[in-house]
Amino acid sequence: MTVDADGFPVVELNSGSCTFCGACAMSCATDALAVERLPDWPWHAAIQGAACLSMRGVSCRLCQDSCDHGAIRFRLQPGGRADPLLDLDTCIGCGACAHVCPAGAVTFERHANHQSEEIQ
Ligand code: SF4
Ligand code: SF4
Repeated sequence: MTVDADGFPVVELNSGSCTFCGACAMSCATDALAVERLPDWPWHAAIQGAACLSMRGVSCRLCQDSCDHGAIRFRLQPGGRADPLLDLDTCIGCGACAHVCPAGAVTFERHANHQSEEIQ
């Protein structure tokens, strides 16, 4: 487990996805994690266009292929490029796309209001 400078545990979705099974909360000896709050997980994927291989003309759909929720699709562009489009209403922030991205192009952001997002 990784902890931050203040000693709090850090969720590293780039290292693997979360199934939101609640096992961590149920096994926490101090009840610091509340399993009933799992649906409130506020994080959603954000694709960084500058790093994305597909946006630079390299064929890649690994993030889309890894998403069991169908939250990522691609829009073809001139020059062999394709821009990933992320549906924030569908994304549950599981991290599967970040784990497989060879370019480290997927980060996570908090979103108060869910809405579809186009990558810049
Ligand atoms: S897996 Fe990464 S590099 Fe490939 S298309 Fe998705 S965001 Fe871009
Ligand atoms: S975080 Fe999970 S649900 Fe969201 S786009 Fe990535 S794989 Fe799909």
